[in-house]
Amino acid sequence: MKLINVVPRVLQNLDNHQFGKCNICGNLTAFLCIDVQAVRNNMYCPFCRSSSRKRHVAKIIIHEVVKTVSVIGEIPKTQALKIYNADVDDAFYQVLHQQEIYTCSTFSPELKPGSEIRPGVFCQDLKNLTFADETFDIVITEDVFEHVRNHEQGLREIHRVLKFGGYHIFTVPCNFDRQTIVRVDTSGEEDIHLLPPEYHGDKIRGKILAYRTFGIDIFDLLKNIGFETKVDFSNYLDRKNGIFDSYVFCSKKV
Ligand SMILES: [Zn+2]
Repeated sequence: MKLINVVPRVLQNLDNHQFGKCNICGNLTAFLCIDVQAVRNNMYCPFCRSSSRKRHVAKIIIHEVVKTVSVIGEIPKTQALKIYNADVDDAFYQVLHQQEIYTCSTFSPELKPGSEIRPGVFCQDLKNLTFADETFDIVITEDVFEHVRNHEQGLREIHRVLKFGGYHIFTVPCNFDRQTIVRVDTSGEEDIHLLPPEYHGDKIRGKILAYRTFGIDIFDLLKNIGFETKVDFSNYLDRKNGIFDSYVFCSKKV
């Protein structure tokens, strides 16, 4: 997203911007609202371009794991954490990519899984990660698993590459008052649509199919894989970091 392209919407929403401190880049700023109906996916920090959702993930990393600093960009090198983010060229990349602690990935069917595209950036398929067992302290995925055809296999892979006591910190659309809505039957080779196809925007591929909308049964699934999971719902105190109207899952490998 180029900020210049959203200037008209930034101006339309002048009343909805929020002043505060970005917990990723550390700047004091106005978080820019471009769509009041979907604040979790915007409220952009003009410095690191993080969205509300990404800063909520940052909040959980800081509160649950890092604990010594309040800004992701200030994680000291001496804190020997290994972080893997299944997203590339985002705000986390901007503040962490020069540190050895940080690995990230994108997926391209033309590239061999595991190949290093540039330093610290790998081609990875979440269902078959090429990392060794127990490599990472933190794995981050944002709005990814609703798009993974075999999501259980992907979650097991994340469990495998996490150290014991490590965290998968992630977001997925979830209805907490009902079971998972299966949108596509993936039991055979071909996808069979059970509901009208739902696509979500993706910065690399344009739009990607949502196989499901998770429900309350996600907790049993995560428990069976070996995770202890809690969910953080944003509250009014989070507004000081420009975090609105979202929830983040925090699964600990136990
Ligand atoms: Zn920022």
